[in-house]
Amino acid sequence: MNYKIPLIKSSMPGYEEYCETIKEIWSSGRMSDNGILFTKLKKQLMALLDTKNLLLFSNGHSALECALHALPTKGEIITTPFTFASTTHAIVHSGFEPVFCDIDPKTMTIDASLIEGLISDRTVAILGVHVYGIPCNVYEIERIAKKYGLYVLYDAAHSFGTKYDEIDICNFGDISMFSFHSTKVFNTAEGGALCSHQDAIMDRAKRFRYFGFISKEDADVVGFNAKMSEFHAAMGLCNLRHLSEYILKRKRCSDTYDSRLSKLSCIDFPQYPSNLKRNYSYYPIILNEKSCISRDDLCNLLEKEGIQTRKYFYPLTTTFSCYNHKYDCYKLPVSQFIADNILCLPLHSELSIEDVDYICDCMIDILGPDNYV
Ligand SMILES: *Cc1c(COP(=O)(O)O)cnc(C)c1O
Repeated sequence: MNYKIPLIKSSMPGYEEYCETIKEIWSSGRMSDNGILFTKLKKQLMALLDTKNLLLFSNGHSALECALHALPTKGEIITTPFTFASTTHAIVHSGFEPVFCDIDPKTMTIDASLIEGLISDRTVAILGVHVYGIPCNVYEIERIAKKYGLYVLYDAAHSFGTKYDEIDICNFGDISMFSFHSTKVFNTAEGGALCSHQDAIMDRAKRFRYFGFISKEDADVVGFNAKMSEFHAAMGLCNLRHLSEYILKRKRCSDTYDSRLSKLSCIDFPQYPSNLKRNYSYYPIILNEKSCISRDDLCNLLEKEGIQTRKYFYPLTTTFSCYNHKYDCYKLPVSQFIADNILCLPLHSELSIEDVDYICDCMIDILGPDNYV
């Protein structure tokens, strides 16, 4: 279907700007494997994110898998099902057992008050997801992790460019993963990164990124190939120049949605902490019990008006057929409720305020002007 207003448009630099940047690939003759542009991007990102170690990957999912493989022991990982397939798949694929924790209804991130009840003598780590760029309860998670000697990993795929208490989000926990997929706030077309203060784990993750090679003639782990190419690094270098402009454009749209939709009593919004520098990566809304129609009906009616939305995240990853009912959801009522009632509205750096107004008009029409207070 061709939508009048698509959910997402990838942020892209001008064609000439990209061509100018990739010229360097022709002068160096090197398209991958720690090339010039790769090194430049890595340096710029390290400075921007104020991180001690940063590794670039071919995508965020591989980055997360390599991070998990790099942990010294296997066992259970406490995580949430309200996320993209990648988080759960990475845990299972790297030989860990996910233990699912419910989410907080306001932030939709892991409910830290439930974590201790799930810790066993097999627990190795906590893997939280900063959904929509909202930070997990990082201080409480840190306290629990210290008390029980656990690693803390964050799927920060949605969080690039955010700061919490003036600290870049990747500096919480032991390891954070960013995705630079084309739909994310900052993209390299496909790409991702790990950031960490843990030197030994990052060394191992780096070996997993490149076949496990420890020298020219030996591999000490059964690794992957998950390196970032020069063409992807070039896209990153260009997009990074425009990042603050992309975020500002998203903010304007997000503020317009806020000012109009906050008057609809049948919609709830996530709670963003006041000490958060946001990146406006998504615009999620939650239909509450006052709504006259279901989330699915709202999604279909908006589609009829040419507006593309996404049930993100629905369903919970625990329900995927590959997991064959292995993971019970009965202890996850909040996750279930949010997954059934959430809808992400279009938000990207090319979206016009006129389009946002049109979407708001349609929403108010559909959800009933009597709900508009
Ligand atoms: C996008 C995303 C990923 C995976 O990133 P890729 O770069 O597409 O592999 C992982 N987790 C979450 C929450 C995401 O949104």
